[in-house]
Amino acid sequence: MTSASNYVRGDLAHLIHPLTDHSRLSETGPLVLVRGEGCELVAEDGHRLIDGMAGLWAVNLGHGREDLIEAAVRQLRELPYAATFGGVSSPPAIELAEKIAELAPPGLSGVFFASGGSEANETAIKLARRHWVRAGRPEKSIVVAHDRGYHGLAGVTTTATRLGPYHGDFGVAAPDIEEVPAPYPYRCSAGTPCDPENCTVCTGEALERKVEELGAERVAAVIVEPVFGSGGVIVPPPGYLRRLREICDRHELLLIVDEVITGFGRTGTWFACEHESVAPDLITFAKGVTSGYVPLGGVIVSDALWEELREPAANPGVLWHGFTHCGHPVACAVALANIEAIEREDLLTAVREKTETLAGLMAPLREHPRVGEVRQMGLMVGIELVAEKATRQRWPAEAERGRRAAAEARERGLLTRGLLNDILCLAPPFTISEETMGRAVEILGESIDATEDLHP
Ligand code: PLP
Repeated sequence: MTSASNYVRGDLAHLIHPLTDHSRLSETGPLVLVRGEGCELVAEDGHRLIDGMAGLWAVNLGHGREDLIEAAVRQLRELPYAATFGGVSSPPAIELAEKIAELAPPGLSGVFFASGGSEANETAIKLARRHWVRAGRPEKSIVVAHDRGYHGLAGVTTTATRLGPYHGDFGVAAPDIEEVPAPYPYRCSAGTPCDPENCTVCTGEALERKVEELGAERVAAVIVEPVFGSGGVIVPPPGYLRRLREICDRHELLLIVDEVITGFGRTGTWFACEHESVAPDLITFAKGVTSGYVPLGGVIVSDALWEELREPAANPGVLWHGFTHCGHPVACAVALANIEAIEREDLLTAVREKTETLAGLMAPLREHPRVGEVRQMGLMVGIELVAEKATRQRWPAEAERGRRAAAEARERGLLTRGLLNDILCLAPPFTISEETMGRAVEILGESIDATEDLHP
């Protein structure tokens, strides 16, 4: 423990943290952050850290932005709360819905606001199922999700998150979620080495077969992240999303693309599905929409789904779904300022340029004997640590290779995470300088080396 301050004592005594082993928390933390300055964080003891994960893939514009702070303060003074239930509205919610519809791929024009990514995906799944119920086909209820996908930790989304550790302790799973393998060429379930152009998993053939096995008449939707984030920064081979679109069209399924991490610029476009010119039926977003300054998430739906909700001839009835903070005016005002800043400062171009710079900086790490693979799309990087490069052998779980390397990085001034199976990640704010990016990559290399001692 670096400090025995009142904060640390209070935290250990009362604060329940997500994704934390509380029995071991006193060994390394809690890390009490007291200030954010651009791409850096300051801990209570004065220790400075590069914000290597932009918080949790969220603080895209960095900390301390006066424009975002001002937008929040202005709105708090004007109108701190307005519901959107029952047709009530407020200017920020309206303007943000208009703006998001303008930025979304063609063919999507309705926007539902939620408080975060889990609520957004819960909503998308409910809207997809509602579509089929209202079409008189309630048996079309199965949602196909990918192994290693992460879609949140609420009710149905906990089950749609296909990462084992999230399930064991919570009893029954939600019904009608079915799993297909991840398009993960480095460890392809169809066998490695994998040739993505011909592999049954990476071409979507395995998914299509699963739909046929289940019976398309029972399947409502497919859900996928354009880049699997928490599952290990897995970048599907080019064309995968397009194949999913084709399969969904062929079998009358809705395509839900989870852009909770990738939305609002992280891969150099407003939405990552633009790279494949794919228009999903539903896009979910959160995190980067406000740069994490205030909680906001949502779902963008296709023109067709939006028409179904409002066209009198379709007899849409009431949408019996919503949350207290849907369209929260302060969150929407911050999101508008955030989007305006991305446009004004041409940050999508900056992300594309920094993507190249980061790829160059990462090149030496690709050769590291303990690095099996470095994966990158935009400003999202995953570094998969292995015990043996040639055989891709993983470390035994008890070596905690990724967790220890991330803890070491923290000591050296970089806040990062060790994801499941020893995958380190880097997803800095868009505003990071080349120098800071270089230092972050250096720290990662040093931290992998410094934690080598526990080789099994
Ligand atoms: N979907 C993806 C791709 C995510 O990465 C996350 C969170 O990390 C979520 C959904 C859930 O979002 P939240 O934690 O805001 O509920």
